[in-house]
Amino acid sequence: MAAWSDNIRVVEPYVPGEQPKDSDVIKLNTNENPYGPSPRVRNIMQDVESLRLYPDPTASVLVNELAKYHGVDPSQVFVGVGSDDVLAMSFLTFFNSDKPILFPDITYSFYDVWAELFKIPYERSALDENFRLVKEDYYRENGGIVFPNPNAPTGIYEDIINVEEIIRHNQDSIVIVDEAYIDFGGESALGLIDKYDNLVVVRTFSKSRSMAGLRIGYAISNPVLIKALNDVKYSYNSYTMNLPSLIMGTESVKDDEYFRNTVAKVVATRTRFVEAIRQLGFICLHSSANFVFATHESIPAKDIFEAAKKAHIYVRYFDKPRIDNYLRISIGTDEEMDAFTDFLKKYVQSYNN
Ligand SMILES: *Cc1c(COP(=O)(O)O)cnc(C)c1O
Repeated sequence: MAAWSDNIRVVEPYVPGEQPKDSDVIKLNTNENPYGPSPRVRNIMQDVESLRLYPDPTASVLVNELAKYHGVDPSQVFVGVGSDDVLAMSFLTFFNSDKPILFPDITYSFYDVWAELFKIPYERSALDENFRLVKEDYYRENGGIVFPNPNAPTGIYEDIINVEEIIRHNQDSIVIVDEAYIDFGGESALGLIDKYDNLVVVRTFSKSRSMAGLRIGYAISNPVLIKALNDVKYSYNSYTMNLPSLIMGTESVKDDEYFRNTVAKVVATRTRFVEAIRQLGFICLHSSANFVFATHESIPAKDIFEAAKKAHIYVRYFDKPRIDNYLRISIGTDEEMDAFTDFLKKYVQSYNN
């Protein structure tokens, strides 16, 4: 082995859901939104000539629009290349203690990857037998806390009262609430920003705004923590946000009606789909997200996953302790969910014969 091999950072990367190349698939595996971005986003990027310039490093058009939308000051908003970038930057900025950071055992599987990458000690507290957060597990010494609400991949929303309890018990460390799915159900922790100086709320345009391909995420907090994030960003890459993202992201925020309509459609389809597959013997955890986490009363999840894939329907399966008999199914259009339900109906019937 060459001597330099000791100097290489060795990490086991996060594995995202498959992005199949063929177009004749029903894709319910990465929680994308089936409706596409607001029509205002289309054709807005006319001035291609302006791409010769570096974008505004402060991303002010988008920051200002988001500040207006959420009723906060622009100094309270940080934007990044998807919430993955915002979260990674937050880990780097806020989690610099020798004490372990805390997050649940079943959660977004990027958290432990970032902790490993940045050499941050961490401990995972087990969710209870109903996959609920145990808030008391977070009432101990720690170097920071992060969890999604609603949680992924369970879709379970934790009551804001309990979220506040966790923040209140941890005023010596930063608490990051990852609200990737909050638009599909539940009360945001944004209302607590003025009350607690240790709270950072992270959001994304990838799910509810249907813009996963553009990569936009943001954090809202107090000006002190947002400045700390910006200082780290400017020490790393001043131009994380490209010009098309700034322009198209801003247009999306301006079209609240389209946003609300499409989110409501996804929620209605979720209710309809849960009811349909319940009749086929599936049990779904109560979802507040744009996906459902489902298990079948008799058929192993892995078998269903593989059969669906053969039928060109992609869902997500995690070969991990406690959740290896569940499928995470993203909510597509009614037509897509009907097609998947039809497939399941036939599959369950043939399996039982
Ligand atoms: C999808 C997701 C993200 C990342 O979304 P981006 O596309 O990077 O904005 C972050 N956290 C959770 C819990 C997610 O499910």
